[in-house]
Amino acid sequence: MSQQLILRPGRERSLLRRHPWIFSGSVAETRGSPQAGDTVDVLSSSGEWLAKAAYSPEAHIAARVWTWDPEELVDEAFFRRRLTAALATRAELMRGSSCTAYREVHAESDGLPGLVLDRYGDVRVVQFLSQGAEAWRDEILAALSGMHPTSGTYERSDTEARTLDGLAPRAGVLAGEVPERVEIREDDMVFSVDVHRGQKTGFYLDQRDHRALIRRLAPAGRMLDGFCYTGSFTVAALRGGASQALSIDSSAEALELARENMRLNGLADDRATWTDGNVFEELRRLRDRGESFEMVVLDPPRLAAAASHVPRAARAYKDVNLLGLKLLKPGGLLVTFSCSGGLSPELFQKIVAGAALDAGVEAQIVGWLGQPADHPVAIQFPEGRYLKGLVVRRSDA
Ligand code: SAH
Repeated sequence: MSQQLILRPGRERSLLRRHPWIFSGSVAETRGSPQAGDTVDVLSSSGEWLAKAAYSPEAHIAARVWTWDPEELVDEAFFRRRLTAALATRAELMRGSSCTAYREVHAESDGLPGLVLDRYGDVRVVQFLSQGAEAWRDEILAALSGMHPTSGTYERSDTEARTLDGLAPRAGVLAGEVPERVEIREDDMVFSVDVHRGQKTGFYLDQRDHRALIRRLAPAGRMLDGFCYTGSFTVAALRGGASQALSIDSSAEALELARENMRLNGLADDRATWTDGNVFEELRRLRDRGESFEMVVLDPPRLAAAASHVPRAARAYKDVNLLGLKLLKPGGLLVTFSCSGGLSPELFQKIVAGAALDAGVEAQIVGWLGQPADHPVAIQFPEGRYLKGLVVRRSDA
């Protein structure tokens, strides 16, 4: 008998809409003693076959769907097909682009739950974030070895998502040679990426389009880069119209790399001031000193990790955006982001509107920002949409 996961009555609805997650509360029982990572047949309470999924007994998400096709085997050939498709899509979507870094596989949204692949030049960084992806690790790596050759592969399965699935964090070289820092190009901007210890897999690839936008929009004058990490928005603004930047982050290592990124882009050191500090406090200090900027960029970390954190996170987003708007010169631009998946674009817009009201500024939205093409959202998986942003112009005289 195959290993099976039987749902409670009525819980098949999301699967019939092809949503790939099965929450532990929807599971009535398992049959055939499936272990973590095993492929199970998912059946409704009345015995209707729904999907094949990877079982994760300890996690809140108890299973993630591999396939909706009862005939499709989940084996090495399956992973080869899905990986080939994801990489072919990138080749299409990145056509005509000279960027050397992009996401090759975006987990659920590429039909490969728990698997993330990022490419930095000829280095590939891999994350196995679920029991299912972990169980097929060798097959996935074998399939990848022949695809779009790399000089090295590095594992960065050291994130919270993996812990939530009951797996220990893991990081290190998997194949070839991987230097600590890899240089990538986006158009004619150059960035050094710390793939061994940087945040995420080293760089915020999801902000690529917004770097180009900030470069294009940056007005002459001063820009403020709040939560600057390795300074990608600072570099973009300075390569555009901005003359000076004040950039703040709480990570000293990130700021060290940011200085390197200035050099790589031929930007004089004295055009940016790097502040190792807490953005919420530093912005208050700048406001009290009466400072102002032509452009303010705010890209905080995920302030709401779960839906239950949204109300508290909403206050923090409002707080930081209120300060950002107060620091903006009339006619200036605020480019503000939220990467909290649980906080909707509509709510984010309301929060920023509330911040403008309380700051006493008039403003207009001149841009709605989202995810780049290499971070797709499977159409039945709205959770894949996490990054949102607004370009807000202060319109009072
Ligand atoms: N804009 C960046 C990415 C920002 S990620 C880029 O273009 O690459 C969020 C950053 O916020 C991280 O670098 C993290 O170190 C920093 N951070 C988190 N909390 C902070 C705080 N309270 N004050 C300052 N920086 C903070």
